[in-house]
Amino acid sequence: MNIYDVAIVGGGPAGMTAAIYTGRAMLMTVIIEKGVAGGLMALTDKLENVPGFDSIGGGELSELMLKQATKFGAGLMMADVSKVEKKGDLFLLHTDNGEVTARTVIWAAGSSPRKVGVPGEMEYIGRGVSYCAVCDAAFYRDLRVAVIGGGDSSLKEALYLTRFASEVVIIHRRNEFRAEKIIQDEVRKHPKIKLILESVVEKITGKDFVESVTVKNVKSGALSEHPVDGVFVFVGYTPHVEAVKELVTLSPTGRILLKPDGATGTPGLFAAGDVVEKLVYQVATAIGCGASSATAVEHYLAGH
Ligand code: NAP
Repeated sequence: MNIYDVAIVGGGPAGMTAAIYTGRAMLMTVIIEKGVAGGLMALTDKLENVPGFDSIGGGELSELMLKQATKFGAGLMMADVSKVEKKGDLFLLHTDNGEVTARTVIWAAGSSPRKVGVPGEMEYIGRGVSYCAVCDAAFYRDLRVAVIGGGDSSLKEALYLTRFASEVVIIHRRNEFRAEKIIQDEVRKHPKIKLILESVVEKITGKDFVESVTVKNVKSGALSEHPVDGVFVFVGYTPHVEAVKELVTLSPTGRILLKPDGATGTPGLFAAGDVVEKLVYQVATAIGCGASSATAVEHYLAGH
């Protein structure tokens, strides 16, 4: 039976950075990833705030990180981890591809898009409702789309959609966006983007595919119908913590609370990236978080 020094769950920027560090430290490392290496980063069109790159595609950066991690000896296993158990000094990870045993675990399983929870959303997933512009934008060439949300994801993805769609309508519940100012400025001056503020989507309707959204103004209560061929939902992300929830302490928003040294409540279990309660959720901070967790693993193993 293989006993890894560290099993890193999640191959996003946090997990892959951790793997580069633990690999370089000669620790026997496996990255366990259920989808694509890079995670949400791989689905990002371009990144302009990662130091060293003027602009780089999320897919390209994911490939570079994976290449670097494997160069230092980390293995990649494609599997979905359903539960992590502590058995004595070791961890047992239950996956859909068998069990994995490791001395330490870095939980960097990332997050997935939240549903907005309106009638029609679930019904039209894959038939007009989407959570990933980079994946689906090309289906909307010369068509009209709505984007729900006012954060960085929503505005960045709206800008990406303008390459294909004839019109992009951003529907946001407040009068102000929480997205970065530089992205807001770009959105506000884009000729293809229309803003519907202080408004929420009441329902998504259509026949075989999405045909319109009904929008309610939150101040006046007035309802209006807008013909669109697609609805892109970006209302935040839910962290993946289910498999470790009995071993960690969660914040009120469902993220893992870390001790100052990067440890969770369970000795040998560390966490990094989107699953952790922190101030900023970006690739650059995920990288920092991954580096800290890997260094904490090194110290922990040296002490044992
Ligand atoms: P977010 O910052 O949490 O924004 C979610 C947006 O959805 C908010 O505008 C929120 O409105 C709205 N919203 C939430 N629930 C809603 C509901 N039920 N109905 C209607 N609207 C709803 O999420 P995010 O944009 O995905 O970003 C997540 C994190 O990743 C952030 O820390 C962000 O900075 C980071 N990120 C960074 C970049 C980058 O390139 N810098 C790119 C993507 C993401 P309110 O504003 O009214 O709350």
